[in-house]
Amino acid sequence: MRKRRSSNFLLIVFLFLTINLCVAGSVKFDLVIKNGRLVDGSGNPWFYADLGIIAGKIAKIGWIDTSEAAQWLDAQNLIVAPGFIDVHTHVEGGITRIPTADNFIRMGVTTIVTGAVGLSTGLIYVPGTFAKTDEIIALAKTAAQCKGVYASHIRNEGNEVVAAINEAIQFGERAGLPVEISHFKISSKKLWGQSQLTTSLIQQARERGLQVTVDQYAYPASSTGLETQLPDWVLDGGRDAAMARLREAKQRARARQIRAREKIAAPRRRHSQNDLAAGANFSLLGSRPDSRRLRRRSRYFRRRESD
Ligand SMILES: [Zn+2]
Repeated sequence: MRKRRSSNFLLIVFLFLTINLCVAGSVKFDLVIKNGRLVDGSGNPWFYADLGIIAGKIAKIGWIDTSEAAQWLDAQNLIVAPGFIDVHTHVEGGITRIPTADNFIRMGVTTIVTGAVGLSTGLIYVPGTFAKTDEIIALAKTAAQCKGVYASHIRNEGNEVVAAINEAIQFGERAGLPVEISHFKISSKKLWGQSQLTTSLIQQARERGLQVTVDQYAYPASSTGLETQLPDWVLDGGRDAAMARLREAKQRARARQIRAREKIAAPRRRHSQNDLAAGANFSLLGSRPDSRRLRRRSRYFRRRESD
């Protein structure tokens, strides 16, 4: 797991802002960010304030006249926050491929520090799907001894999401370490609207004294690999084993039956014109570069979505 720290309180202002230049008056600040709602990262509620910046560092928080600014940004109706500490961004492409880290910056992640800072799990993915609660608690206790955190893709974000959140909370309470839940959401359509319940589980745990936090995608969608749509037993043994099973008609039929029983919509084989017109259920944003078939498909989606 990687942890990213904001080293010098770099600021992220969301959406595109017009930079205003001011040449008159007694200029004190290189940049002033005005009228934004400040979320200072300390856990406090937001508050309105302007920020004055000199040489890349915050020099003043409060009311600042634009005449004191060499340039200023109007952040009205926007959030002004420190660069995020994010354990898991889903950005496409690593720092070696994009050394300027534009893909991280656009997500609000300003600094990357690598190294072990705790225990992370992906209980929706192989092999995490096969890990039992007690096994993870034992590992989390070791992380707790080193003052680590526990960060997780929880076991289920669909029909069993409540149980999965409770399990994540249980890891923190039984092992004695902070919990971070990735991509907090409800992916099962029939449970949409239940976020009051799921967020109340987090709130109640916090009231009991557990340091538990959540994060969300920066876009209104879910993002993961299609293999999460397959039953766990199909994935047992890794991807090659899964592909071998799916090549067998009987096993494939069994997997399909289980999906139907769970009433979780499996991805469609291909999108029809009507699906796309109504808003496709999923988009293929990445593919294996060595697969010509998938590359063709990727182009198909891009073409349709740009229509
Ligand atoms: Zn993720």
